[in-house]
Amino acid sequence: MTRTAQHEPAATDPIARLAVDVPLAHLDRLFDYLVPAHLAEVARPGVRARVRFSGRLVDGFILERLAASEHGGRLAYLDRIVSPEVVLGPEVARLARAVADHWGGSLSDVLRLAVPPRHARTEAEPGADPPSPPEPGSVDGWSAYSAGPTFLSALRDGRAPRAVWTALPGEDWPARLAEAARATAAGGKGALLLVPDRRDLARVDAALSVALGESRHVTLSAETGPAKRYRNWLRISRSQVRVVAGTRAAAYAPVADLGLVAIWDDGDDLYVEPRAPYAHARDVLVMRAHLTGAGALLGAAARSTEAAQLVGTGWAKDLVARRSAVRGRAPAVRAMADDEAVARDEAARTARLPSAAWQAAGSTLRAGQPVLVQVPRRGYVPSLACARCRAPARCSACSGPVGQSRSASACRWCGRPATDWSCPVCGERRMRAVVVGARRTAEELGRAFPGAVVRTSGRDAVLDTVGPGPAIVVATPGAEPVAEGGYGAALLLDGWALLTRADLRAAEEALRRWMNAATLVRAGGPVLVGADGGVPAVQALVRWAPAWLAERELSERAQLGFPPVSRFAAITDVPAAVADVIAAARLPPSAQLLGPVPVDDSLERMLVRVPRADGAALARSLHEAQGVRSARKVGDPARVQLDPHELI
Ligand SMILES: [Zn+2]
Ligand SMILES: [Zn+2]
Repeated sequence: MTRTAQHEPAATDPIARLAVDVPLAHLDRLFDYLVPAHLAEVARPGVRARVRFSGRLVDGFILERLAASEHGGRLAYLDRIVSPEVVLGPEVARLARAVADHWGGSLSDVLRLAVPPRHARTEAEPGADPPSPPEPGSVDGWSAYSAGPTFLSALRDGRAPRAVWTALPGEDWPARLAEAARATAAGGKGALLLVPDRRDLARVDAALSVALGESRHVTLSAETGPAKRYRNWLRISRSQVRVVAGTRAAAYAPVADLGLVAIWDDGDDLYVEPRAPYAHARDVLVMRAHLTGAGALLGAAARSTEAAQLVGTGWAKDLVARRSAVRGRAPAVRAMADDEAVARDEAARTARLPSAAWQAAGSTLRAGQPVLVQVPRRGYVPSLACARCRAPARCSACSGPVGQSRSASACRWCGRPATDWSCPVCGERRMRAVVVGARRTAEELGRAFPGAVVRTSGRDAVLDTVGPGPAIVVATPGAEPVAEGGYGAALLLDGWALLTRADLRAAEEALRRWMNAATLVRAGGPVLVGADGGVPAVQALVRWAPAWLAERELSERAQLGFPPVSRFAAITDVPAAVADVIAAARLPPSAQLLGPVPVDDSLERMLVRVPRADGAALARSLHEAQGVRSARKVGDPARVQLDPHELI
C-alpha cells in the first residue's frame, strides 16, 4: 500500500465504526475511522482491523460502515485490515454489548471471550459445503415427559419454545439434548448446546454423532488446541455447520439463525466466567434467546433457583416427567442422621461409616455391583448454625451468613458482630460451628470392605466411566464416573459439609451434587445421605422433587431480599481500591452497602444490594466508577462482580 492511496477515502460509506480492543473502562464506546479507498471492499462489517489509537496500533472489529460520522473532529484512517474473514456478526456484537452492560463490564472484555484469537493458517484452508438438514427423527425419547414431544415438534417448526427440563433419574440426557438439536436442525435452524466440562462434552459429542450423522456438528472447548478450535469456530461462523456443543465460552459461538440454546446442569459453577465481567453462561444464553427469539432448554437432574425463576415468571415452561415415571426410575434414598450408630466393624469404624451405609455397600458388592461413595472436596467455608435446631445463623441486619472470624462471630457480608443473635426458628441463643466431617480417605473406605477394588475420581484424576463389576468408587462432587448399567448403591457422606457451607446457595448446591450422584444409581438401588431427613434439601432428595426445593428457596430468598429477587455486586480488592470505587460510583438511591469485610490479609470485600429493578442502574454506576478510575490511570481495574455465583 502506498501513502497516497491511504489519503483517498472510500467513495461510498467512507466511515468505519469500530469496537477497539482497549480495556480501559472510560474508553468503552465505539470509534469512527476513515476507510482508505484501497480498503473499500475488504473493510466490511465484522472483519478485524488495525488502527492507530492514542499513538499505538491496536486491534479492533469493524461493526458498521457509514456515510458520515457524528464525530466532529478529524478522523484517522484505518491502518490495515487484518483479514477479510468476517468474524463478528451483528447478532454476537449485540449480545456482547448486552452482556457488558448487564454485568457492568467493557465491550472489549466480552469480545475477547466471544471471538477466538486468529489462526491465520487455518483461515486459509478451504471450507466445506454445508450439509443438508437431517431428518426430524423420533420424539420417543421425550415421551416420558408430558410436554416433551410437543417441545420437540415446536423446535422442528421453528416456534422457539422455552423450557426448564428436569431429567428423569438415570436419564440418557446427552441423547435427549442431541434429539432436541436434531429437531431444530431438521427445521433448518441452528442449535447451541452447553455442558459444564470436557467429560460431558465428549458424551454429547458422541450422542450428536449418533443423532445427526457425521459432519453436521462441531464441538468447542478451551481444551481443544488453538488450530482445531479455530477451525471448528470458522465452520460455525461460515455457516458450514448448524449444531454446536461446547463448554462455557461457546455461549458466544456465532451459530447462524439460532433456533435453540440449551444448557445442561446450569447450577454448575464451571459456567461462571473467571474473567471480567464474570458473566454466567446460563444467563448469557437466556439473554441470547431473548435477543434472537431462539428457543431455550435448561436441563438438569436438579434445578437452580434461577431456572425456577424463569418458570415462575412464565418465561419458560416446566418440562417434567410424569410422577409415575419418576417413581419407577428413582433410587431409594434414605437419610442417615449423623448420630446414627457407626458400624461395629473395626475397619468401618475407622472410616466413620454408619452401619446402614456399611451394610448397603456390603450387600451391593456381594451382588457384584459397583458402589459410588461421594466425599466432599476440601476447602469449604463453614458457617455457624443454631446450637439446637441447626438452622443456619443469619445476620439480623442484612440476613447474610454468620461466620467465625478471629475470636468473635460476625456477619460475613456486612461485618456486624452477631452478639445479640437468637434463632428465628427455635429461639435458641447459642450458636455452634458446623463441624465439617473429617475427610475419609479412599484407603480407609477400602479397608472397610476387604477384597473390594477401590477406584478414585477427583480433581487430579477424573474417571469417565467404570465397569459393571463390584468396586468401591470414591469420587468428589462433579467427578463421579458413569457406571455401565448403573451403580448398585451410593453413599453420600458428609452431607452436612455441603449443606452448611456459608454460601447462599448451600442447600440448592447440596441437592444438585447429591442428585447428580444419585441419578447414576439404578432404579430402586439404595442411596444413603449423611444428613438429617428433616432438612428441606434432604427431603427433596428423598422425594426426588428438585423443583419443589427450588421454588421453596426462591420464595425464601424473596422474603429475605436475596438474589435472584435482588441483585448484588461484590467489589473485592485492596481496601483503598474498594473505597475508591464506592466513592466514584453514583449508586442508585436504593443501594444498600454491606461491609466491607476482610477476605484475606490484603483484600476486602464490599457488597452492594439493590432491588432487581435497579440492577441495570447498579451495573452502569459501577462501570462508570471503573471509568473514572481508568481515566485517572490508577492502575488495574478493581474486581467488580455483578450477581456473584457464590455469596459467602
Ligand atoms: Zn434453632
Ligand atoms: Zn450482615
